[in-house]
Amino acid sequence: MRTPIVAGNWKMNLTHQGATDLARGIAEGCPENGVTAIVAPVALHIPAVAEVLAASPVLLASQNMHWAESGACTGELAGPMLREFSVRYVILGHSERRQFFGETDEGVNRKAQAALAQGMHPIICLGESLQEREADRTQAKVEFQLRAAFAGLTADEAQRTIVAYEPIWAIGTGKTASPQQAQDVHALLRSVLEDRFDRQTAQAIPILYGGSVKPANFAELLAGEDIDGGLVGGASLKVESFLELTRIALGS
Ligand code: PEP
Repeated sequence: MRTPIVAGNWKMNLTHQGATDLARGIAEGCPENGVTAIVAPVALHIPAVAEVLAASPVLLASQNMHWAESGACTGELAGPMLREFSVRYVILGHSERRQFFGETDEGVNRKAQAALAQGMHPIICLGESLQEREADRTQAKVEFQLRAAFAGLTADEAQRTIVAYEPIWAIGTGKTASPQQAQDVHALLRSVLEDRFDRQTAQAIPILYGGSVKPANFAELLAGEDIDGGLVGGASLKVESFLELTRIALGS
């Protein structure tokens, strides 16, 4: 059975004080077992948040990572640097990075391979735009992104990876995919993973839903057989709503 995951993407939000306060509140109230809680602060706040979370069950993610281990890459962050601060997960291919920062499927794949080589877990984001959904191209789009992201990975590496299905039209818009729309895409993603690897591998990979997740809609999304948790933006920025999401996940 897959442990449910609640991953908070704090994006480019919060002051140093705000980030450490939020981390402290989450650390104090987070269930010890039965749910994996992850937070992704801005890179600048990672060392301070790592210190706050050190003795807690809450795990740390980066919002991005370069594939090189060091070198002439102004403004980038390397895996070994993140590892020094106990970062275990890295969000890759978020639609905001694909849309505004030129992240490509090939780049996501290179970064995923680099993260795995560092012993980290990539959280690979993919999803269709509203135009693609309306043109009935959702399945083709997400299958293409999934296969590209997992290119060259072994089954063992794939099992250390997390997928996040995030329909672009639902991110930060207040519009959530219906539980059935989300489950349909998650089931498709799992069948593609089974085709690419094998049944056991496909069953082991958590597939998160992201797109305006909040306490009011999380339980019904989690009821989907292939929905293993949430990648959450806005609702991860308040202690109480993040903790409520972890309690809902625990009861799912
Ligand atoms: C996200 O940024 O990954 C996200 C899903 O944001 P929100 O929950 O605010 O829609």
